[in-house]
Amino acid sequence: MIHIGCHLSSSKGFLHMGKTAVSIGADTFQFFTRNPRGSRAKELDMADVEAYRAYAAEHGIGVIVAHAPYTLNACSADEHVREFAQQTMQDDLRRLDCLPGNLYNFHPGSHVGQGVEKGIELITAQLNELLRPEQQTTVLLETMAGKGSEVGGRFEELAAILERVELKEKMGVCLDTCHVYDAGYDIREDLDGVLDEFDRVIGLSRLRAVHVNDTKNPFGSHKDRHEKIGEGFLGAEALHRVVHHPRLAGLPFCLETPNELPGYAAEIALLRKEA
Ligand code: FE
Ligand code: FE
Ligand code: ZN
Repeated sequence: MIHIGCHLSSSKGFLHMGKTAVSIGADTFQFFTRNPRGSRAKELDMADVEAYRAYAAEHGIGVIVAHAPYTLNACSADEHVREFAQQTMQDDLRRLDCLPGNLYNFHPGSHVGQGVEKGIELITAQLNELLRPEQQTTVLLETMAGKGSEVGGRFEELAAILERVELKEKMGVCLDTCHVYDAGYDIREDLDGVLDEFDRVIGLSRLRAVHVNDTKNPFGSHKDRHEKIGEGFLGAEALHRVVHHPRLAGLPFCLETPNELPGYAAEIALLRKEA
């Protein structure tokens, strides 16, 4: 059973996302916890959450992925920017406790000239303050393309963060196919080799979700621009291999391709199809 879905707008609540997912053949989905630029979140509508829970159980929607605003920077040189990231993530995690057992993905951040080591130290400090033993959500570090001063373009950087987090069982990794290929991991020509490397450096058991995207840029470009499945440098075949790889079985796969719903429905069908 392959769990696949796409990024959906959360503006109409959880039940609406669940119904939208089912309408396009998805059994998982991703959503922003708030406006991606990080503004205030609406208070949760508990009637909507309850209705979603019943609907998800009935329609076999499994683990879903909440995505933090991508403008948060937990390793900024500016203390106020770091504090804002901390408060936002804390508030998101509190809200997500009403849907236990799901995932919260965030971009580790950009060290903006302080150096990777300092970046890793700041991110780890934030996580150690943020994570609580009683929380119901697993927090994921996303693999990044290594654009500018982004932390997380190398598996070693994510491993260093995971190693220094105290509540390790609350943490995992989300692998983004566009990002890793842009970062210089050749999942098109050597998927098994990259998974071996991930396993050696981070541990495949830490991998909890996958973002399935083609890329507008060639291998190792450090650009991070997503493309529709089959229209970029990775190609549909390579991405189909990712989704069907036995070592990735059971993970939620989420598309973040530039599509409206019909385009997502077509990509989900394409990727689900047995080879
Ligand atoms: Fe992301
Ligand atoms: Fe992503
Ligand atoms: Zn991206």
